[in-house]
Amino acid sequence: MKVAKFGGSSVASASQIQKVLNIINSDDERKIIVVSAPGKRHSEDIKTTDLLLRLYEKSVAKLDYQNKKEEIIERYADIIRDLNMDENILTEFDDILEQRIKANQSNPPRLKDALLSCGEDFNARLIAQYNNAQGVPTTYVSPLDAGITVTNTPQFAQILEESYDKIYNLRKIEGKIIVPGFFGYSKQGNVVTFPRGGSDITGAILARGVRATLYENFTDVSGIYRANPNLIKNAEIMEEVTYSEMRELSYAGFSVFHDEALQPVQKERIPVVIKNTNRPEDPGTFIRYDREIKPDHLITGISCDKGFTVINVRKYLMNRQVGFTRKILSVLEDYNISFDHMPSGIDNVSIIMRTHQIRGKETKVLNEIRKQCDVDELGIDNDLAVMMVVGLGMNQMVGTANMITSALAKANINLKMINQGASEISMMFGISVKDADDAVRAVYDGSCAHAKENLQLK
Ligand code: ASP
Repeated sequence: MKVAKFGGSSVASASQIQKVLNIINSDDERKIIVVSAPGKRHSEDIKTTDLLLRLYEKSVAKLDYQNKKEEIIERYADIIRDLNMDENILTEFDDILEQRIKANQSNPPRLKDALLSCGEDFNARLIAQYNNAQGVPTTYVSPLDAGITVTNTPQFAQILEESYDKIYNLRKIEGKIIVPGFFGYSKQGNVVTFPRGGSDITGAILARGVRATLYENFTDVSGIYRANPNLIKNAEIMEEVTYSEMRELSYAGFSVFHDEALQPVQKERIPVVIKNTNRPEDPGTFIRYDREIKPDHLITGISCDKGFTVINVRKYLMNRQVGFTRKILSVLEDYNISFDHMPSGIDNVSIIMRTHQIRGKETKVLNEIRKQCDVDELGIDNDLAVMMVVGLGMNQMVGTANMITSALAKANINLKMINQGASEISMMFGISVKDADDAVRAVYDGSCAHAKENLQLK
């Protein structure tokens, strides 16, 4: 049994929905379908979830929201008309929006979840109804009936373990099942959404719950590129990548698959494939527990994210002082700051965090570190991009670091720091923001040249 999830652009219009249904109906194993809310039909379009966000903002401010509501209804009306469906369902959608606004007016976080979840919910109802009318037995199953029980934390739902046994029962339902993505229900009966982009998470939860053989994640690209295709012309698509490689790449900006969606599938080692709704015949990229290491393709992917800050601390004989780093970290803890990396030397340590973590608190944090740790030098640098170069087994291969640093040197890029850490599968490079894009290009070209050389040597 497969679980197939279709992202916003795959279900943005009637013609896209027809493609989705052709994909679903052409394979009996594709039984459980998760859909997003209608996404963008063209680059200037607005996602339905963002339209719902505007409706939320108007209604929570107690302003006239009718035209915002109509824009949403109009998105579904377009689809319904093009599919020649009965327009009565639109009145139902309108009533649901009104009811939710009335019921949650005094509780903004609840109202937000109640409204934003409608995007996927309406789409799932509509698609199930249409597929049924085409003669394919299809049932809409709400996350409540599917058993997706989550924490009572608006916008940050976390699945509760007990959900999985109930989800298994979905296997008993005959025909196709369509479940809206992006939300679950708390034990108190509230709708709670996952973070944005969270329909991937719903798909992963269902795949784990029904013990699917494969989780197919359909989007508008034919897989995961080795590096940002906006930077690299004709960037290659990966054939396969492991869960842990994917985690490292998503951390620094790869966003094709939600990083929180990896956890449920990883637990049961269910393979995921990222496929293109517009080119379903393309093989896509497989995300698996393990894969074979290919010596001529050391680097799986390169991702790079801007917006980091580093605190640099220097203290003579730091290595001999018991508890020195703990004191620095406890200052960060007091200011509720989480950090991402901590490369260190014998007399210095650098602590890297996302800039938003420390914004507005810089002076206080530095003063406190100075007061508590008696440092020799202390500095802060907001001009930091983090590049992750990821590849299973690359640390076992001689010459990987050399290949990367030579490529960067050739492009005249200054490295602020390197951190290999305990992970066997990635290297982190700290660089200036202005160099970030060039660094990705340089390492990508360097790794392609290296792969070619290796092939010729064979
Ligand atoms: N519709 C939601 C969003 O735009 C969830 C999703 O599409 O995955 O964030």
